[in-house]
Amino acid sequence: MTDVLIVGGGPAGMTAAIYAARFGLSVVLLEARVCGGQLAETPVVENYPSFQQISGWELAEQMRAQAASYGVTIEYAAVSELEKADDGFCVKTPVKNYRCKTVIIANGVKRRKLLCPGEEQLTGKGVSWCAVCDGNFFRNKTVAVVGGGNSAVEDALYLSALCKKVYLVHRRTEFRADKKLLSALGQETKVEIRAPYVIAEIYGDTQVNGIKLLNGNTGEEAALAVDGVFEAIGLIPDNSMFAGFIKLDAHGYIAAGEDCRTSAPGVFAAGDTRTKTLRQVVTAASDGAVAAKAAFDFLY
Ligand code: NAP
Repeated sequence: MTDVLIVGGGPAGMTAAIYAARFGLSVVLLEARVCGGQLAETPVVENYPSFQQISGWELAEQMRAQAASYGVTIEYAAVSELEKADDGFCVKTPVKNYRCKTVIIANGVKRRKLLCPGEEQLTGKGVSWCAVCDGNFFRNKTVAVVGGGNSAVEDALYLSALCKKVYLVHRRTEFRADKKLLSALGQETKVEIRAPYVIAEIYGDTQVNGIKLLNGNTGEEAALAVDGVFEAIGLIPDNSMFAGFIKLDAHGYIAAGEDCRTSAPGVFAAGDTRTKTLRQVVTAASDGAVAAKAAFDFLY
């Protein structure tokens, strides 16, 4: 029986682990893939205080090492269910069930997909959602990045250092990415913007070899030869496994305010997974601290 079970090893989960362990609670953190979550896949972080520039992977690794140094047990398993048990909760994974007195859900969000023809069969064959993980396969090749937010612009800049050519495809002519990133993009000669276009199809047999672009204003179609497609079109919640147990908002995020309390006493939500206005590493970390204190207050 663990005092706190944390679902997710991103910045929210790892900060919750550090705080809960320092409050003297026993802590198990379950991570489905790799500690850091989206942060670990971010090329460069420039807005987390105290680091002018640090790779997402390195920042995530420092958080993981700090949590481990406080005796947090980190295990790798995907949570499939959360149930009430007599003396707390039962968190289920395909390999093992965990009993705990409180739960902090910090499972983040998952990446949105284009859902266009060709995407599914060419996933892993040129279609990717992670420039940092897969960019190296496209050295001196031509790729398209799709999206107009911070992730897309960061990915385009990162890939421009590796690739021969990067097309940045966006459905509007205005980009929502930060001005600083857009100014860096303006300096980058290897990146060519295609807007307002959507990717209507991804071509390829065993490997991506092109995309069909569709102009959102005119309906004009164009084919573009590319070796890879990096999708950075935003994030969506992944909370269906908790839907019967805690209240979700209309968009599928966990309904919890700044106090991180959910509709179920003893269950807290931290970071991108909960209803919130600003999803950043620093706000996720902040939630982690708040949720850990709320769990401590619930227990004592
Ligand atoms: P985002 O800000 O939600 O941007 C998603 C982009 O994809 C938008 O430009 C959107 O177009 C486009 N899009 C959405 N659905 C689409 C579709 N079906 N087809 C084509 N395009 C589509 O997502 P994000 O860039 O992943 O960022 C997520 C959050 O993390 C944001 O809050 C962001 O600020 C934050 N973040 C911060 C940093 C940083 O601070 N350095 C880095 C990365 C991410 P429209 O613009 O037309 O809606």
